[in-house]
Amino acid sequence: MGEHDEDAQHSVVPYCPVRCPRCAAPKPFTYGRKLRIRYHRCRDCGAGFRSLELRREQLATFDPPRR
Ligand SMILES: [Zn+2]
Repeated sequence: MGEHDEDAQHSVVPYCPVRCPRCAAPKPFTYGRKLRIRYHRCRDCGAGFRSLELRREQLATFDPPRR
């Protein structure tokens, strides 16, 4: 019995971790959320940025909006 015994029963869905758009550091501080937008600040360089939660069908065509 291991911690991955459930693997065979569980399907896999895509997950894309958020990274800083300026320095690519992972795991930014998240300080707010408005619907599908989350507000982040980079722990390394301090850049503020937003992430947008996508629907499955938006993954292939995502184009980040200009400010
Ligand atoms: Zn950064």
